[in-house]
Amino acid sequence: MTALEFDARHLWHPYTNVLNPGPMHLITEAEGVWLTREDGTRMIDAMSSWWCAVHGHRHPAITAAMQEQLRQMPHVMFGGLTHRPAIDLGRKLVELLPYGLDRIFYSDSGSVAIEVALKMAVQFQMALGHTGRMQFATIRGGYHGDTWKAMSVCDPENGMHGLFSGALSIQHFLPRPPISFDQEWTDDPTLNGLDALEELLETKADQIAALILEPVVQGAGGMYFYHPKWLKGAQDLCKAHGILVIFDEIATGFGRTGELFAMNHAEVVPDIICLGKALTGGHITLAATATTEDVARRIGESEASVLMHGPTYMANPLACSAAVASLEQLSVRDWRAEVNAIADQMKQELAPACELPGVADVRVLGAIGVIEMEQWVDPAVAHALAPDTGVWLRPFARNIYCMPPYIISANDLSRVTSAMISLVKGIP
Ligand SMILES: *Cc1c(COP(=O)(O)O)cnc(C)c1O
Repeated sequence: MTALEFDARHLWHPYTNVLNPGPMHLITEAEGVWLTREDGTRMIDAMSSWWCAVHGHRHPAITAAMQEQLRQMPHVMFGGLTHRPAIDLGRKLVELLPYGLDRIFYSDSGSVAIEVALKMAVQFQMALGHTGRMQFATIRGGYHGDTWKAMSVCDPENGMHGLFSGALSIQHFLPRPPISFDQEWTDDPTLNGLDALEELLETKADQIAALILEPVVQGAGGMYFYHPKWLKGAQDLCKAHGILVIFDEIATGFGRTGELFAMNHAEVVPDIICLGKALTGGHITLAATATTEDVARRIGESEASVLMHGPTYMANPLACSAAVASLEQLSVRDWRAEVNAIADQMKQELAPACELPGVADVRVLGAIGVIEMEQWVDPAVAHALAPDTGVWLRPFARNIYCMPPYIISANDLSRVTSAMISLVKGIP
């Protein structure tokens, strides 16, 4: 059996048919924007390996930090013990996050960071004596991860978890904010969509612990960009009803949307924020949930007295050291200039796609470029084309999209946009 035959026979891949996995590439090296296959062919990683590798793969400063850490201590438990990498990363996060979000819980993946946030919200409400507030409100079109509670707040139909709807706890779904990022805002609640939230909170606030959503950019739920002003209105309504606001910035954090965090477009600070994906620059898994002194204190003073969560690999030192080095890159380089240049170039080079048959919409925000098709796009077609175009794309649902590493050169980015357009043209 060759390596690829073994893989096809024995290994599950994400959201992939186990009997017919489609084209599979054996990658032996990743550096900068490049992925190298075993046969030597190279492809630009236009997906930043699912939003993560913002500084490019195998970044010398990040791998050096990891190697140094590896020499000292790959891991120790976090219960009763602490270490410099966790503390150094905490200092950096407190400095980068908006004022007030300064109580940090580390975990091993984005989905778990969401679980932790949901638990924080419920334990906060319990601490206030609101024992009926166990459910969550969210907007349609969202994606928050693949674990059970995270699944329950993903879009109930077009999300990846429709199959399980009967098994998931009931949450409250609002229409997605109808005014898009580029459209003109109006304060009329019947037009801006805030009327639905107002109505929900007036009738069900005593059952709801928190509103959870991805600020401004909905990623894996449909690549939709909505108006930041919706968030301010939503936060005011939640505050009036004693409901916490949780922002899932796992995909959008660390510059991807053109602001350090997507919430900076709205100038809204949530009660709880979840971070992941680009936190380590795509080098190793790590996530964090940060909250305010008020939420932390209420939980600490409550009858339960502790937050009921504690992953085995919590604050893994190797991952924390990678994150510290990755966040340093954000201050060493001008990430904002890089992201703005990527946005400008993508706007120009993707615009012609509007005229192509089968295209429903083309949109760009920060270093995210989307061609939305009228029909579902088969990822296997993109996977098969990749070695020829030299660009790695993985479309989902009706979206052909990219979110390249910020360090991509103008030439390489042109290859990405033209590969996206060839994919559009190649679709019958
Ligand atoms: C990827 C993602 C998650 C889940 O993170 P994992 O590390 O895959 O568990 C949650 N929310 C958003 C917005 C994401 O993009």
